[in-house]
Amino acid sequence: MPEPRPSVGRIVHYVSYGTPGGEYPSVCRAAVITEVPEHLTAEPFDGCPNGTDGQWIAGLAVLNPEGFFFNRGCAYSEEQRGGTWHWPERV
Ligand SMILES: [Zn+2]
Repeated sequence: MPEPRPSVGRIVHYVSYGTPGGEYPSVCRAAVITEVPEHLTAEPFDGCPNGTDGQWIAGLAVLNPEGFFFNRGCAYSEEQRGGTWHWPERV
């Protein structure tokens, strides 16, 4: 089943950056999509429509336990790398 298109207001997961020494691991945080740009902004699809070849970027309001932060142009990744977003696990 194809993944849904991201759209403003949906809740996704943002992967935090852990510390290099591992004191803080990289973890999933809840995030609300704040914008879905028209075009991708990084190679290899710079300037292509957002969603090309499954590459999506989105602006996020990340809900950390310590507070909000706002991030634009976050890349979608199923590999759960720091600084990327993915859909929450389905049940
Ligand atoms: Zn997650």
